[in-house]
Amino acid sequence: MLSGARLLLADRDERAASAAAEALLNHGVAHVHTVGSTAAFLEAGRRPPSAVRAWDIAVWDTGLGGDDDALTEFLDQWYAQNPGVPVVVTDETPSTRRALAALRGRAADMVERDDLPGLVAAVTRARHATPAPPAPVPEQKRVSMLVIGAHPDDVEIGAGGVIHLRADDGWDITVLTLSHGAGGGDPERRGDEAQRAAQIMGARLVMEDLPDGSMTDDSATVRIIERTVAEARPDVVLVHSDSDTHQDHRAVHRATLVACRRVPRLACYQSPSATVSYHPNRFVGLSESDLEAKLAAIRAHGSQSGSRWYLDEDLLRSTARYWGRFSQARYAEPLEVIRDATPLGFFAGDHA
Ligand SMILES: [Zn+2]
Repeated sequence: MLSGARLLLADRDERAASAAAEALLNHGVAHVHTVGSTAAFLEAGRRPPSAVRAWDIAVWDTGLGGDDDALTEFLDQWYAQNPGVPVVVTDETPSTRRALAALRGRAADMVERDDLPGLVAAVTRARHATPAPPAPVPEQKRVSMLVIGAHPDDVEIGAGGVIHLRADDGWDITVLTLSHGAGGGDPERRGDEAQRAAQIMGARLVMEDLPDGSMTDDSATVRIIERTVAEARPDVVLVHSDSDTHQDHRAVHRATLVACRRVPRLACYQSPSATVSYHPNRFVGLSESDLEAKLAAIRAHGSQSGSRWYLDEDLLRSTARYWGRFSQARYAEPLEVIRDATPLGFFAGDHA
């Protein structure tokens, strides 16, 4: 039944290892290679001795250490490097929890270490069972999105709904606000409001301290943006459009183009000061709850309400409703795509 099989066996105890090897050799196994540690086991898995060339089956004893999670992880590692080579796990006193961990790791079987007939039977079953399925594809890195604005509340107004939608999808979202907006109120209070707003949208906030009203697109601004780009490693960046009457917004747009030159996707949101030259070509449909989150985030900027015409909820809601006509949803936020270097028709988590 086991004739010709080449088997790798790991056990900390040399005596136990040779007893198991003997039992297996007596049942037709052609070659047993024993090792005394998990590291040696994985290494031998990667590079079988020349006499063996390739493994047919492996036996690993839990006495080599690690908890249940480590067992599952180790088995994943094994199957990633030796797909189709089943592992039988031995354990001095098998417990249900251990067996479940072995099962999660797709072990072929789990048997008591001293039960040699049991081991032979398990190895025989494993040898003739269908090979283990291929290792699962490693979990993809979460999509990272960076949304850049000149002043507190810019990002909320331009992309608050998109941020909430994508945060709900599990994206990792950073809001970079380049000033504390001292021109519009107490910077400290505005900082607190921005924090609360980011929290409502589901984003993390980074605040810088460029001068409100006189931002430039020089190398200092580029470097400040690059710092957050290096840290957030975004797949997507959203920023002000160049078609904007506010000089800070234009400066931030231009500095962002430089700082994000290697980011695959870059698009511009609509600010209240955008001009009619703003040409959106992408419309992200929003649910009622995305819109509500956007409005709540904007309301968090309490120091601004009442003094700014563009914070009027009726206007914000009807603007989202208006853009909805270009999307398949009732509400939408528009984006003007500057660059999209992702393969056509594919983007992880992208369904807008
Ligand atoms: Zn602004």
